[in-house]
Amino acid sequence: MKVGFIGLGIMGRPMALNLLKGGFELTVWARRPEQMRPLADAGAKTAANPAELAGAVDLAISMVADAPDVEQVMLGEKGIASVGAAGKRGLIAVDMSTILPAAARDIGERLAARGIDFLDAPVSGGEVGAVAGTLSVMVGGSAAAFASAGPVFACMGKNIVHVGGSGAGQVAKAANQIMTGVGVLTVAEALNFAARNGVDPAKVREALLGGFAYSKILENHGQRMLDRNFKPGFKAWMHQKDMNIVMRSAHELGLCLPAAAATAQMFNAMVGAGLGEEDSIAVLKLLEHLSGGEG
Ligand code: NAP
Repeated sequence: MKVGFIGLGIMGRPMALNLLKGGFELTVWARRPEQMRPLADAGAKTAANPAELAGAVDLAISMVADAPDVEQVMLGEKGIASVGAAGKRGLIAVDMSTILPAAARDIGERLAARGIDFLDAPVSGGEVGAVAGTLSVMVGGSAAAFASAGPVFACMGKNIVHVGGSGAGQVAKAANQIMTGVGVLTVAEALNFAARNGVDPAKVREALLGGFAYSKILENHGQRMLDRNFKPGFKAWMHQKDMNIVMRSAHELGLCLPAAAATAQMFNAMVGAGLGEEDSIAVLKLLEHLSGGEG
């Protein structure tokens, strides 16, 4: 199977490299050509635009930012769907970005009208999981397309779940972002609480790792907070985007999500405070600022 990959940022680049390592013939496209160079050096072909890429592959993946970006690369000018014969050839389009579930369903319907099968397949596991090929992949769409895409997902992830029909992968991812968003905030709160009480936050983390408060977020992000390593990772504006997806869905359904709402406000404030390009764990800096300084 020939695979195409669009969007070679923090996540997309290592995911695409893992497809090459897995033996897939790969074609890539990025809007800034210099981003394609490391992939080309590793053996990938490059395309001039998403339409050209779609013409050369059986399965085309996007890993961009938000719904308008997915819409642009899938359905825009020189987008994947503009390849006339793509549908006839049975092209499968897979979006692995995190976007609003309703937007994924809409994009899926519009691609289906052109004969292109669509899967929403967002991921969790961060840059570390993307590099290691151990991402969790949450998939929405038809069982047939999921079966065809299985070997491709297996190169990028370990826990690959067909959650349900179109949009179901994005619903799972939004649920994931409730837990990771609130988790990052609570780890930052706990470490700041320890420090401001005059107790070594590194020792508190070490103690908590053995009990019910254990989480991967405490283990990985907690250590990065202690190291004050705020390099993204996962940019705060991206996490703000994801909490906005969660809160929009909650608003539409009349759902009460108090912890997610408070977290969304903190990520809003991070972007307002100029921390948007830092990792979302820099919420610690905001907490420290609001609490009168570093502990
Ligand atoms: P990133 O480093 O900013 O990469 C996104 C890439 O998409 C960039 O290279 C960007 O190009 C490209 N792009 C954005 N809009 C585009 C458009 N309209 N047309 C063409 N290319 C476009 O972000 P990332 O961290 O890899 O995240 C990508 C997606 O994965 C997001 O939906 C994010 O929520 C999700 N995600 C991220 C993580 C994480 O830990 N980072 C984990 C799970 C899921 P430019 O470089 O030219 O801007």
